Amino acid sequence: MMPFTTGVDLTAFNTLALPGRARAFCRIDDETQLADAARADGPRFILGGGSNLVVTGDIDRLVLHMAIPGKRLVTQDDEAFYVEAGAGENWHAFVQWTLAQGWPGLENLSLIPGKVGAAPIQNIGAYGLEAGDLLHSVTAWDFEKRAFFQVDRSQCRFGYRDSLFKQEGWHLDGRIAITRVVFRLPRQWQPNMRYADISQELAARQINQPTAQDLADAVIAIRQRKLPDPAQLPNAGSFFHNPVVSAELAALLKSEFPTLPCYPQPDGRIKLAAGWLIEQAGWKGKSLGPVGMYEKQALVLVNHGGACGEDVQRTMSAVQAAVRERFAVALTPEPIFL
Ligand SMILES: Cc1cc2nc3c(=O)[nH]c(=O)nc-3n(C[C@H](O)[C@H](O)[C@H](O)COP(=O)(O)OP(=O)(O)OC[C@H]3O[C@@H](n4cnc5c(N)ncnc54)[C@H](O)[C@@H]3O)c2cc1C
Repeated sequence: MMPFTTGVDLTAFNTLALPGRARAFCRIDDETQLADAARADGPRFILGGGSNLVVTGDIDRLVLHMAIPGKRLVTQDDEAFYVEAGAGENWHAFVQWTLAQGWPGLENLSLIPGKVGAAPIQNIGAYGLEAGDLLHSVTAWDFEKRAFFQVDRSQCRFGYRDSLFKQEGWHLDGRIAITRVVFRLPRQWQPNMRYADISQELAARQINQPTAQDLADAVIAIRQRKLPDPAQLPNAGSFFHNPVVSAELAALLKSEFPTLPCYPQPDGRIKLAAGWLIEQAGWKGKSLGPVGMYEKQALVLVNHGGACGEDVQRTMSAVQAAVRERFAVALTPEPIFL
């Protein structure tokens, strides 16, 4: 049986820097350890970089910290490069590496914290691109069947911050561990500048025909201006999903709040900007105890120092109540509660 460490404090393993002791903890450096881990009794949790996590307190689970390394070109054909990374690779470093190899495509997802293995879980997205757009296949270990399995992109049921892995509840119960992810990066490349922020940043840099690295640099600069660095100010990125409401409710709100940003969805519903709602509800830069909403971006919940999971839940509830009261819209948190 593999050695587990008991009572490990998770403060350094989550970007909100929330304390909590894991009953048992083990770092997974290669696939062969998983069969061994499957023999351990009791509930488990699969941990990546802890950048989408709220640690609520002590955890009566076996925490498996995914650290499987490796990046390689699996194959290429006339149309695309197929690139694989181990679950434990840092996402941003992986994106930078693909660009350096001359395989563009993932640049709009630059500087998203976390590990490659977590990218398919919530189908990470930013600046008009989602990981699922370019994902080819995922390999994972199933702890119940005690076997590896592979799913391709069409089986992953990707949606906005959603996937097969979430729909099945596997992100909560630790049923599977993603070990490797393959991306298909087409040779034909077009800069994705659908977001005004990106075209404005490139214009300011006087770049007319951007390379993929130019786009990555623009995205990095924008993100650094907007989002707090978890190493300086602990946070988990966007704390709430952008709510999607009925066209009727959106029209009603728009008549009362003419500046309300509305994004029509293919199904006729309307996506609202959670950050705008929070700001209008008076929570931008406001705190309750050690936890508040970031002064430059109201969607980001920050730990000003010494907070615990209960402090996060208190601020979260207060923000949800304020938005519900003013707009009759329910906000749901994006991070996983452990
Ligand atoms: C400053 C900041 C900015 C952010 N910006 C964005 C953004 O622009 N877009 C976006 O989509 N997200 C963003 N995020 C959220 C976060 O970076 C992503 O959700 C990221 O994919 C989480 O990766 P992680 O390795 O830290 O996962 P963790 O937080 O460790 O885990 C998240 C979930 O995935 C599961 N999981 C992790 N690894 C595995 C694995 N190998 N196998 C099975 N399950 C696993 C965990 O059990 C958990 O349920 C941001 C976060 C921060 C702090």
